[in-house]
Amino acid sequence: GTLRKKFITKTNQFHKFISPLKNGEGNKDTIKYNRNKDSMKRTKPNPDVECDEEIDKRLKNVDPKMIEMIQNEIMEQSPNITWDDIAGLEHAKKTIQEAVTWPLLRPDIFTGLRSPPKGLLLFGPPGTGKTLIGKCIASESGSTFFSISSSSLTSKWVGDGEKMVRALFSVARVNQPAVVFVDEIDSLLTQRTDGEYEASRRIKTEFLVQFDGVKTASLEEDRILLVGATNRPQEIDEAARRRFRKRLYIPLPEHEGRFAIVKNLLSKQKHSLTDEQIHEICKKTEGYSGSDMDGLCREAALGPIRVIGDIRTISADDVRSINYSDFLDALTQVRASVSDRDLELYNKWNLEYGSLS
Ligand code: ADP
Repeated sequence: GTLRKKFITKTNQFHKFISPLKNGEGNKDTIKYNRNKDSMKRTKPNPDVECDEEIDKRLKNVDPKMIEMIQNEIMEQSPNITWDDIAGLEHAKKTIQEAVTWPLLRPDIFTGLRSPPKGLLLFGPPGTGKTLIGKCIASESGSTFFSISSSSLTSKWVGDGEKMVRALFSVARVNQPAVVFVDEIDSLLTQRTDGEYEASRRIKTEFLVQFDGVKTASLEEDRILLVGATNRPQEIDEAARRRFRKRLYIPLPEHEGRFAIVKNLLSKQKHSLTDEQIHEICKKTEGYSGSDMDGLCREAALGPIRVIGDIRTISADDVRSINYSDFLDALTQVRASVSDRDLELYNKWNLEYGSLS
């Protein structure tokens, strides 16, 4: 689909990439690359350099069907998210910029003592912007974004999960700088070692091998950042935990964060709410996550629709504005999804293992 089109467009431009599957689906011998040798160093592409078509070693042993799947479903060229799209979380944003975004942009400066972590763990309640942050890092650093959930590795790719992990990192290496975002990473790196889940164990082992292979210490090494997100950090075993040098707590939004989220969502709609009324809503939504706030606004936005007599004939201009009482109604329907008990667990884990800066 579009991702694929985007991919071909961009890589043609920068890497002179030719889709491995263009001629002869599934035939490994036809995986040919036409690459600018210096492309990985991000020098300006030189259209005059003639390149031999060669098989890229990094993809030679990878199943072309998997490459195709990764390009179509998992890979996204720099998604269009900026730090401004993420409300609140000022501390996390600043830390992430310094620790990972700038190093991806300027690997020549961030060497030695300044060398960036290979892994960033984002933990906290669901719906607080962890995925948005992953996308934003990719977007702001001009990286290719790969997004996969652990459950799809263990369930969708039954039997092939291990191969898939290898394929994913191979494609990421070819498209670096890259951000590999793994959702629900706890289930991949769990401390439970159930004998019956031999396949999961093998996926985990492969994942750690690939993770260790991802070095970002100097220019010569791969510029791949692994971003793991989890709602259950306590499930991650010690060996895996140590590999994430940065472990950042992504908490529920504060009043100001909730305000920014509502304000932003309403800016795209006809509404009559004053800032004071929005502040009132924020006072009533202590404990709501970003996605709870999103749900609340969606529910409120249906208020004006519910009073329409005949939806088929009304003109769009006659739909009334969303107002404060729509929000009061919505508040009776949409509740905070995170429990106090869970919040206690996150705080405790953060004190013990979280990175302060
Ligand atoms: P997570 O990965 O932490 O579960 P997401 O990043 O997928 O959460 O967020 C889910 C949705 O909630 C987003 O698409 C967005 O609409 C909203 N959201 C959550 N946190 C924020 C935030 N800090 N700023 C803006 N929107 C947010």
